[in-house]
Amino acid sequence: MAQTWEKGLSCAVSCAACNGALAPDEKRILSVYDHRPICMACKEEEQGRPDYEAVSREMLGQCMIDTEVMYGDPGGYCFYHFYPFTCKSG
Ligand SMILES: [Zn+2]
Repeated sequence: MAQTWEKGLSCAVSCAACNGALAPDEKRILSVYDHRPICMACKEEEQGRPDYEAVSREMLGQCMIDTEVMYGDPGGYCFYHFYPFTCKSG
């Protein structure tokens, strides 16, 4: 159960924001706005949004509450919004 999100998110084959292809060993990161895996270029753009800091803070708090029930590893999932990862992680 804890691996469910990891497969879908960490091994996404394309960026959810720009649809650019993502190789398995290419770094990706989760959007704090919609939790979808995006490429690093799109993350940089996201970080430039004026509400990014507020949204990410709120996301993290809510994420820890929500995912503790759904997944076994809320920290891993929630922090992938801030730390890039690849399909091969773990
Ligand atoms: Zn992208």
